[in-house]
Amino acid sequence: MKISKQSENEFFGRFEENEELVAKLTEFLEQNNIHSGVFSIIGSVKASRIAFFDQKEKKYLEMPMDEPAELLHCTGNISLKDGKPFPHCHVVLGARDGSAYGGHLLGAKVFVAEVYIKKFDKPVERKFDESTGLELIEPKED
Ligand code: ZN
Repeated sequence: MKISKQSENEFFGRFEENEELVAKLTEFLEQNNIHSGVFSIIGSVKASRIAFFDQKEKKYLEMPMDEPAELLHCTGNISLKDGKPFPHCHVVLGARDGSAYGGHLLGAKVFVAEVYIKKFDKPVERKFDESTGLELIEPKED
C-alpha cells in the first residue's frame, strides 16, 4: 500500500498488485490508530469474495468470484469491533459485459485500487444486536 496523509484526518493512496484488500486496509487502520471514519475505493480486482446477509437465517451467504472485475465502488465505514479497527466494506463490481453485481465484501485480490480514507475524532464501537444478528455501530451521545 502506498498512501500518504493529505490533511489532518485524510489519507489518499493506492493498494499494490496482489495485495488482499480487506486485510491490507485493516492493517493500515490498526497501524494508524484509525478507530472510526469512512473510506472509498475504486480500481480493478483479480478475484473477490462477497456475501449476502440472509435476514431470516441471520447469516452471511458467501459467493466467491474467481474472475477479474472492475471495482466500481467499494465504500464503507470504520469502527471498533472487539477493540480493534474494523472496516465494514460494501462493493459494486463490474463484469466484462458491463453488468454489475455486489455485496458485503469479505476480501479481494487487487489488480489496482485507489483509496481515500477519512478519520473521525471520536471512536465508535460495534455491539452485537440480538434482533438483526449483526454487530451494529453504537455511537455514543455527547
Ligand atoms: Zn455489510
